[in-house]
Amino acid sequence: MDIQTKAVLAGTVKDSIYNSVITPIYPTSTFRFDRLGQHKGYDYTRSGNPTRAALEENIAALEGGLGAAATATGMAAITAVMFLCEPGDHVITGNDIYGGSYRLFKDIFSKKGLSFSFINMMNLKEIGKAIQKNTKMIWIETPSNPLLHIVDLQSTIALAKSKGILAVIDNTFLSPYFQRPFEFGADIIVHSTTKYLNGHSDVVGGTIVYNDKKIEEKIKFLVNALGVSEAPFDSWLVLRGIKTLACRMETHQQNALKIATFLESHPRVKKVYYTGLKSHPQQALIKKQMKGFGGMLAFELDTSKISLDTFFSKVKLFQLAESLGGVESLIEHPWTMSHASMGPEGLKASGITQETIRVSVGIESANDLIGELKNALGK
Ligand SMILES: *Cc1c(COP(=O)(O)O)cnc(C)c1O
Repeated sequence: MDIQTKAVLAGTVKDSIYNSVITPIYPTSTFRFDRLGQHKGYDYTRSGNPTRAALEENIAALEGGLGAAATATGMAAITAVMFLCEPGDHVITGNDIYGGSYRLFKDIFSKKGLSFSFINMMNLKEIGKAIQKNTKMIWIETPSNPLLHIVDLQSTIALAKSKGILAVIDNTFLSPYFQRPFEFGADIIVHSTTKYLNGHSDVVGGTIVYNDKKIEEKIKFLVNALGVSEAPFDSWLVLRGIKTLACRMETHQQNALKIATFLESHPRVKKVYYTGLKSHPQQALIKKQMKGFGGMLAFELDTSKISLDTFFSKVKLFQLAESLGGVESLIEHPWTMSHASMGPEGLKASGITQETIRVSVGIESANDLIGELKNALGK
């Protein structure tokens, strides 16, 4: 089955009593045993719930994985995965990863006995040099947020495998519709389903997808023991959101390409970062590992010509807000908002400047969106 069909149907048929077309919500904390030692597959919702199971089956199918665990947030998924590491283990990751992941690694797990190398993941040699005897995991985010740097999935994962290191990919930015890291041998994929998978900015959630029985056992244990699983109603919302993933991603992409092209031609814009533009320096890699460009873009405003305040005060259709991946367009200032927790040094290392503006392009009319940007940028 193609991914469009899986998005609508995989895992969703769960009602054998009334044949409801849509997966029922089971808002129960506990399940009755038929008799001592015998139940119908579920005993307690933290450990398992039929609505959540439907979502997990669905996302696993989209990624082409063996199974998945749906978690309360994206950070909950990332936290659970990090617990695969033991004190003394070393993790290699990018210097431009999602701000919340950076904070979790640096301010929490570094103090629990793990060590991290935050490096330029676009450079395979640098990754090779960062590998130590105790390196347990390579954490990959591609395209990066917000500058859309691409990490070579095939060679980075191959390098990890050759050294027995776990390769984990945060696939939030493209969703399985545009990128499927298991095709390159990834061990684990995580998502913030808050973003494109749910797509409607009305729920937070995460997921861990795996392709191996042993990893499945560990992840299922961790998600239950840590207590980070997704609530039934939230699972149901994400499952509903995913049904339209394919159409949404196509429209996000069409709009983003039009907006990026417009911004690139504007004299008050110094630089545009979008994977669908010819000016993106990693064309070959984009073609090789991505099935599309997605809906995220960033640009550098020429603040010698227009101030950030003036620009931001004139955008209304683009709502000034963090987060991304919803049907509505959002705009924000990474330096003071989404990436502020990285601190000035972390920000500089990642290439973000005070002039960087990030846009999550929605599915509204591209004409309306461009009209507003034209007006906000001025002459
Ligand atoms: C939002 C996001 C997360 C964190 O997910 P939450 O649902 O906000 O906890 C992790 N990684 C990336 C790339 C994200 O965009």
